[in-house]
Amino acid sequence: MILIDGKKIAAELREELRQEVVELKAKYNKIPGLTVILIGDMAPSQIYVRMKEKAANEVGLKSEVIRYPEAVEEKTVLDKIEELNKDESISGILVQLPLPKHIDKQKVIETILPGKDVDGFHPMNVGNLSSGYESSVPCTPLGCYLMIKKVEPNLSGKKAVMIGRSNLNGKPMAQLLLKENCTVTITHSKTKDLKAECLEADIIVAAVGIPELVKADWVKKDAIIIDVGINKTDNGIVGDVAFEEVSKVARALTPVPGGVGPMTIACLLKNTIESFKRSQK
Ligand code: NAD
Repeated sequence: MILIDGKKIAAELREELRQEVVELKAKYNKIPGLTVILIGDMAPSQIYVRMKEKAANEVGLKSEVIRYPEAVEEKTVLDKIEELNKDESISGILVQLPLPKHIDKQKVIETILPGKDVDGFHPMNVGNLSSGYESSVPCTPLGCYLMIKKVEPNLSGKKAVMIGRSNLNGKPMAQLLLKENCTVTITHSKTKDLKAECLEADIIVAAVGIPELVKADWVKKDAIIIDVGINKTDNGIVGDVAFEEVSKVARALTPVPGGVGPMTIACLLKNTIESFKRSQK
């Protein structure tokens, strides 16, 4: 079984990106900038933002975190986004989710200029991705996609099953695999026989949030399994896949932690650099 080492692949990607930033600096005499807006003091968001900032600094991006208290007015945040939209030194704007209830998530997402939307959540980017045009792609599915391609460069004709249909994971993941000519099934909480769907799959991407939902007898021999789930349990953090038993059947599997997580952050940096390059065209 191939253990897909997301930590290692992400480190390699960051090194490539670091070199690219050096080249871009030499060519344009400026570097891509990423600004993250963080509202409130939820512990997981604080941790994610710190990891993003560290990674951005590591590859040499200009990086800034703007922090607001939980009670910040929506207008203050929208005005700041407008200001960043106009700032030519900023290539990527990310507003860390989730947001406090009084702030309209959709309004925030739609205020970010599509060209600077490094999370790939703006409807323009969602539409472009589903139309097969150039777009910003949400970081987690992009990271999953890059890991799948490392194991299997030719995905044409493969059967791929997404577990979960969120805008963050399942839907954009399906679009990326469709573009690679996979036959894609998106399953969700109302799917009648999830096990039967999974047993058909050459590739499974599990993004559900249920600890160890995917068992060994759900998995076809030699399937590639990507585990997006992050679930806190009494036994620590586990994914949506029963790692031990599935590792005996699968051809390749990502661990949790150390799989999709590090790739998500590296792909945010990749998206920021891509935005910068598009803006220079
Ligand atoms: P979500 O809650 O938005 O979506 C979950 C999806 O799972 C829904 O589409 C729902 O229909 C489906 N679902 C629920 N129960 C099901 C069942 N019994 N059978 C089949 N489908 C079912 O979640 P999300 O934001 O997509 O996140 C999913 C998981 O991925 C969470 O554990 C989250 O923490 C994790 N996550 C990890 C990363 C990372 O970087 N590693 C990034 C984002 C999310």
